[in-house]
This record gives sequence, structure tokens and C-alpha cells, in this order.
Amino acid sequence: MTDLAPQLAKFAAQSARTLGRRHPEPAAAPRSEYQRDRDRIVHSTAFRRLEYKTQVFVNHEGDLFRTRLTHSLEVAQIGRTLARMLGLDEDLTETLALAHDLGHTPFGHVGQDVLNDCMKEHGGFEHNLQSLRVVDELEQKYAEFEGLNLTFEAREGILKHCSLKNAAKLGEVGRRFIEGRQPSLEAQATNLADEIAYNNHDVDDGLRSGLISVEQLEQVDIFARHLDIVRGLYPKLNDRRLIHETVRRMINTLVVDLLEQTRRNIARHQPESLDDVRGCPPLAAFSPGVLEQHRELKRFLFQNLYRHYKVARMSEKAQRLLRELFQAFSNEPRLMPPEHRARADLDPHRAVADYIAGMTDRYAIREHRRIYDIEELA
Ligand code: MG
Repeated sequence: MTDLAPQLAKFAAQSARTLGRRHPEPAAAPRSEYQRDRDRIVHSTAFRRLEYKTQVFVNHEGDLFRTRLTHSLEVAQIGRTLARMLGLDEDLTETLALAHDLGHTPFGHVGQDVLNDCMKEHGGFEHNLQSLRVVDELEQKYAEFEGLNLTFEAREGILKHCSLKNAAKLGEVGRRFIEGRQPSLEAQATNLADEIAYNNHDVDDGLRSGLISVEQLEQVDIFARHLDIVRGLYPKLNDRRLIHETVRRMINTLVVDLLEQTRRNIARHQPESLDDVRGCPPLAAFSPGVLEQHRELKRFLFQNLYRHYKVARMSEKAQRLLRELFQAFSNEPRLMPPEHRARADLDPHRAVADYIAGMTDRYAIREHRRIYDIEELA
């Protein structure tokens, strides 16, 4: 039998040398520690909820748009490719990809902004920090510990950004923000895989929705260039195939560029271990030229898709709905189901934020009806 297990680079995260779990547990054998982390994410409640949480389009707007679940799977796919090519730990990379959006509120970014605003006198709300809260505390299914008890490397990678004030309260996992150190290359690669995934699938979803057009996208260099190639090869291709052939080439260009630039950065800084990676500047990166093209596409989507009046209308409704839920539950915590009500004894506002952040789009809509519509059953 041939050994198909890929060779790990010396700067990769090594499962056998993990900094460990907060609550010590026997080894995960025959799985590696990071495989166990990944498996715990897949079996979590928060992970299943991603199916009904969205980013740009709300769940009931259409069955074919990305949800946070399919987005996370696309991030994992790109992340694993990067990990394999760079000799990184694929299981840790996959763990981070599948977990990176667990703390996201219903209705995408607007939800996070509303909760942050409602919580401004009570410690604020950051979705990255919330993802860590989900895996550290809010998932309650194991007999011996709160949360999923993930390894340090998984927790470190999940916490992508964090204010210095919050970092100071987090102990070991927050320390890198204070010291200006980087997370593992697995985490760095996953962050960029996330950017590649959403930029490209938002082009696809945006076109599918009709909110943006191919003609508009032709102003964007990276799109126009790949569209030209596809049109040259297949002059008679229909729109759906034309778009897919273009998008897949854009993803490939970004992934290949990211691999090449990251390899150059590694060759320049010569990290000998994960700890060296933490002390280097960010090693996973696009080349300056491709970075600019990537940013141009991002700006285009911001202007033309995320700020489209139809998206703005939905965001406005979502904001109002979440604000009203927050108001109702913080005025009267007894309106929450018992497990959330119990948490309110410790910190009422945080309990409300946790409850709302955990909701799917459709659950939030239903809950709002149950609270405010007199004809709806409680
Ligand atoms: Mg994401």
C-alpha cells in the first residue's frame, strides 16, 4: 500500500505537539487531535444552523444562493487545497474553515452591526469573538466540559480579529493581538480562502439574482480578463456556463497566485516551526498586483451588490426585526426559552445577544411573529 498521507512542512501545526485543550482529555487516537476538532464542529448544533443563515441573500429569497453552510464548505475546499500544496495540516485548516462563521448572527453583517449597537454599553458584539464563545461555552453537549473543548490552535485560528480590550480578557488565546504576533499558517490560509470564496460566490449569486449584470462586471479587470479568455475559447457558450467558466478561472488565478506568493514569503523568512510562523509578518498573501485586482472586485461588489437598493431594503427590515427582538428580550428576559432565561441571571444583555446571535434567519422571523403578533401562537 502506498502512503498517501501528505508530508507536513516543519512550520505546519503538528497535531501531536498541540498546546492542548482547556480541559485535558485522553488522546483522540486513532484520529489526530485536529481531526477530533473538525469532527466536533461537524456534530455541533451551531454548524447545522449555518444552513439557514445567510450573508447577502436571506434564506427565503431563493434556494440556489449560498448559505453560510455552503459558504463554509467552499472555504474548506479552497483551504484544503492551499494546505495540501503548502504542507500544512489539512484537518486543522478544515476545522478553521468549518468553524469560522459559527458566531455569525442571522441576516449577515447587518445582524452583527445591530447587536454591536444594542450591546454598546454592555461589552459590544464581535462575530469572531462570538465564534470562539460558541466553541468555548455555548455548545453544551459534553458531560465533562462546556463548549467543544477544542485545541489551542483551533481556538487561536477561529479568533481572526479581536479588539485589544477583548484580547486582554481572553488569556493565552488573546495574547497574540497584544503582542502583534500571527496565528498558524493554517489560520492565515483559511482567512484568505474565505476571501476568495465569498468574492467569487457573491459574483455568481449576484448575477443569478439579477442585481448585477455581466456588462457591469466587465468594468472589473479580473472578471473581464477571464471572461475574454472563456469567450475566446467558447464563443457560443450560454450565460450560465459562461459565468461558471469565468468564476472558476478567477478562483484558480487567486489560489495559484496565493500559493506562489506565500511560497516566496516562506523562502524569504525561513520559518523552522509554528512558533517561528507566529513571530514572522503574515506569510500567506497575494502578490501586490493580484491583491489590487482582488480589492477592485471587492469594491465593485460593495458598491453594486451589497449596497443595491433591494439588498438595502432587506437589511433595513432585518435590522428593525433584530432590534425589536433585542428590546423585547432585554426588557423581559422571561420571554426567552428556559435555557437562555437561566443565563440571563448572570448577564442579561449577553444572554439576549447569545440567544439572538444563535438564531437562523427564519427562526428570527418566526420568533419576532411569536413575540409581536397577537394572533400568532406563543
Ligand atoms: Mg466567511
